[in-house]
Amino acid sequence: MATLDEFSDRHHVVVIGAGFGGLEAVHRLAGAPVRITIVDRRNHHLFQPLLYQVATASLATSEIAWPIRHLLRKRPEITTLLAGVNDIDPEARRVILDDGSTLAYDSLIVATGARHAYFGHDDWEPFAPGLKTLEDATTIRRRILLAFEKAERETDPLRQAALLTFVIIGAGPTGVELAGTIAELARSTLPEDFRNIDTRRARVVLIEAAPRVLGGFAPDLSAYAHRALEGLGVEIFLGQAVSQCTAEGVVYGDTTLAAATIIWAAGVQASPAAGWLDAPADRAGRVKVEADLTVPGRPEIFVIGDTASVAAPDGSPVPGIAPAAKQQGKYVATAIRLRLRGERVLPAFRYKHAGSLATIGKRLAVIDFGFFKLRGALAWWLWGLAHIYFLIGVRNRVSVALSWLWVHARDQRSSRLITQGRENESRPKQR
Ligand SMILES: Cc1cc2nc3c(=O)[nH]c(=O)nc-3n(C[C@H](O)[C@H](O)[C@H](O)COP(=O)(O)OP(=O)(O)OC[C@H]3O[C@@H](n4cnc5c(N)ncnc54)[C@H](O)[C@@H]3O)c2cc1C
Repeated sequence: MATLDEFSDRHHVVVIGAGFGGLEAVHRLAGAPVRITIVDRRNHHLFQPLLYQVATASLATSEIAWPIRHLLRKRPEITTLLAGVNDIDPEARRVILDDGSTLAYDSLIVATGARHAYFGHDDWEPFAPGLKTLEDATTIRRRILLAFEKAERETDPLRQAALLTFVIIGAGPTGVELAGTIAELARSTLPEDFRNIDTRRARVVLIEAAPRVLGGFAPDLSAYAHRALEGLGVEIFLGQAVSQCTAEGVVYGDTTLAAATIIWAAGVQASPAAGWLDAPADRAGRVKVEADLTVPGRPEIFVIGDTASVAAPDGSPVPGIAPAAKQQGKYVATAIRLRLRGERVLPAFRYKHAGSLATIGKRLAVIDFGFFKLRGALAWWLWGLAHIYFLIGVRNRVSVALSWLWVHARDQRSSRLITQGRENESRPKQR
């Protein structure tokens, strides 16, 4: 068993959050004269870019998540704590955990990410769950699969139509990926499994308030994604904000649409770290950090990833994506190393954008490198290779590659299990 005694005199770095940013910082501190405590309220690191594949029954939960403790097992200077952080006392340099205990730090890295936001309509969440955690993904998977099961037994045509209507709100990468995959599930994977319904009749409806899908991509790639989604049978409504989500369906523009399954893929709200730190925040709640990612007036506290608001070299905000969080994790690890050596602080953090990727369906993707754009099957293969490369561990890479090949060759999605939750937890309510 590893003992911490030999590290007890070292500079203590506390990292809150073992997501992309926090874990990268910890990796980059390997060999530095520090001891580290990493705190996360979940016991696993999650590869969020593939969450939609769990939600749509393509991958199993264990293929995209890894126990944090196991990932860090070979680093005796690191202690992993399964705990939620409720607050920070910057004056006392202490983190306050959910059981009331406290954790002293010399340097603090806050990397607590973000969650979906309902633009002031939190009451919509039970009807339109968002996708951020494994629990969210299995909840959505359960709702999708239960809707087909209930439609199989439903005799009222209107109720059956509502059960076979799937609404996705928000046409960013996650919304597009969900819409395309649900359409493929209904049209290619499920038809043979049911006797009373034709799953190919299912409506997949994508609603977006902005004028185009994939608004962060170049207009020609947006247009391509739009056409590709329509080719898969997805109905797209642009420039229409949703004004209501209920157990019966959604209202957007002047339209009321009865739908049993609604998925929220719009809006992001940072973790409440700005409140813990009493620090300035932007509209999404992200801490407005200095150019070296520290909290104003608190050089020992860094905030990174989706919780931080910082500008890229061109003045635009650094996007809330995994490579940005990882670059920031690397930067703060270097900053801490330099400070411990008594060297001058690093130049300002500079974000380098490597490109934007989104899949639309099997063999369809778009990639925007800025200077170079790619669409279609080649983009899909590149997207797949990039994601397999970034997964952790050989076993997961092989397992995910096999699952995808199976989807590719046979249209079969192996994780079609209805698990978790209560038996009757699904909408609309049974009569
Ligand atoms: C569905 C989805 C799809 C995405 N797809 C892509 C994609 O294709 N490409 C891409 O680059 N990015 C994608 N992203 C964004 C990317 O996942 C985030 O930008 C990235 O995870 C941010 O890293 P982070 O370290 O800031 O936060 P996270 O990775 O979210 O990690 C935050 C960690 O903090 C922990 N935590 C939070 N609050 C507390 C607390 N109070 N106490 C203790 N622990 C806490 C959480 O449990 C979590 O482990 C996607 C995100 C989602 C939700």
